[in-house]
Amino acid sequence: MSFTTPITDITVTPIILPLKQPYHWSQGVRETFAVNLIEVTTIDGLKGYGECTVAPDQQATARILDVLKRHFIGADPFEMVPIKARVLRDDYLALGANYMRNANQMMAGFDFAMFDLQGKITNRPVHHLLGGAQRETVGYFYFLQGDTPNELARDAARGVAAGERVFYLKVGRTEEQDLEIVRAVRAEIGSARLRLDANEAWDPYTAIRMCRKLEPFDIDLIEQPTPSWSIEAMSHVRHSVGIPILADQAAFTLYDVYEICRQRAADMICIGPREIGGIQPMLKAAAVAEAAGLKICIHSSFTTGITTCAEHHIARCIPNLDDGNQIMLQLAKENIVRDPELKPVNGWMSLSDAPGLGFTLDESVIRKASARVT
Ligand SMILES: [Mg+2]
Repeated sequence: MSFTTPITDITVTPIILPLKQPYHWSQGVRETFAVNLIEVTTIDGLKGYGECTVAPDQQATARILDVLKRHFIGADPFEMVPIKARVLRDDYLALGANYMRNANQMMAGFDFAMFDLQGKITNRPVHHLLGGAQRETVGYFYFLQGDTPNELARDAARGVAAGERVFYLKVGRTEEQDLEIVRAVRAEIGSARLRLDANEAWDPYTAIRMCRKLEPFDIDLIEQPTPSWSIEAMSHVRHSVGIPILADQAAFTLYDVYEICRQRAADMICIGPREIGGIQPMLKAAAVAEAAGLKICIHSSFTTGITTCAEHHIARCIPNLDDGNQIMLQLAKENIVRDPELKPVNGWMSLSDAPGLGFTLDESVIRKASARVT
C-alpha cells in the first residue's frame, strides 16, 4: 500500500494589497502590503496554500521561489522537513550562502502549503497534526493606527468601545512625538495594557532614556528597542530599565532564539512563522523559549489571512503562548481569505476545525491584487 500523494505543480503569484490607511512606524510609512502566494497541487487535484514576504524585491523573491520549487515537485507533502533541509543544503549552504534569514522567509510559504495539504489529505485541522490544541481561543492585541496624537487617540477610543484588552502602538519617532502619542493613548484606554514597538529605532543610551520617561505611563512592554544586529545591546537595555523587553527583529532563526534566551536579553520573544521558516520550526522555537522559561508572542508582519490561519494553529498548540499576539490582516483594505471571517472579538478569536489551515480564498480579490503587480 502506498501513502504517496505526489505534488505535481507549484505556482507563485505576486500580489499587492492596498491598506485602509497609511501605516506609520519607525521605518517609514507604507500604503500597501505585498506578498508572494504559493499554490501547491497534488496528483489528486488537492491544493495547499502559503505565502512569503517579498524583501527586498517582489519579482526577485518570486523568481527565487520558482527556483526552489523543483525540490518539492514529485515529492510527498508529508516529506516536508527533509525536503526543506535539502533546499537549505543544495541552494544555500552548498553555494556558500549562509542566508538563514532569507532561506527561512522563502521556506515559510512552502511549509504553510505542505501543512495545508497534509490536513486536507487526512481531513484534519493542522493543529491535530502538531500534537493537538492546548486551547480553543487565542488572544490578540489591538493595533492602533494613525499618525497624529489625535488620530491615535480616536482609534484608541474605538478599541476601548470594542472591549479590547491589549493595545499596541508604534514609537521610535522623536522623543517629543513618542511621549505625546503615548500620553494621548493612555488617556483614552484607562488601565488597559499598552505595548510599544520601537522597531530598532534606538541605541541603548536612547532606549534607556526613553524607558525612564515612559515608565509613568504603565507600559506593558517595549518591543525591539535596539537594532536587531546586537542581542547584547538589547540585553544591556533589558538589564537597565524597569519596563519588560520583547525581542522581535532580533529573533529570526532558532539560533537567535537560543542566544536571546542565553543572554537573558528579553522578557518574552516575538517570532512568527514567516520569519523562522513556517509552522514546524515555530514549534522548535517555542520549545527553546519554554526551556528558558519565556513566553512566545506570535509575530505578524505585512501578512494576509493565510498567515493569520497558520499562526492560529501554532498558537493553539504551543504551551508558552502570550495572550496579546500580533495580527495584521485587518489593516489591508481587501481580504484574500473569504472564509472564515478572522476577526477577534474583545481581542480573542477561535476558528472552526476545517481541514488543513482551514480557509477558503477569494479568487476575485487575488486576481485584482495580482493585476497591481507591474
Ligand atoms: Mg515588532
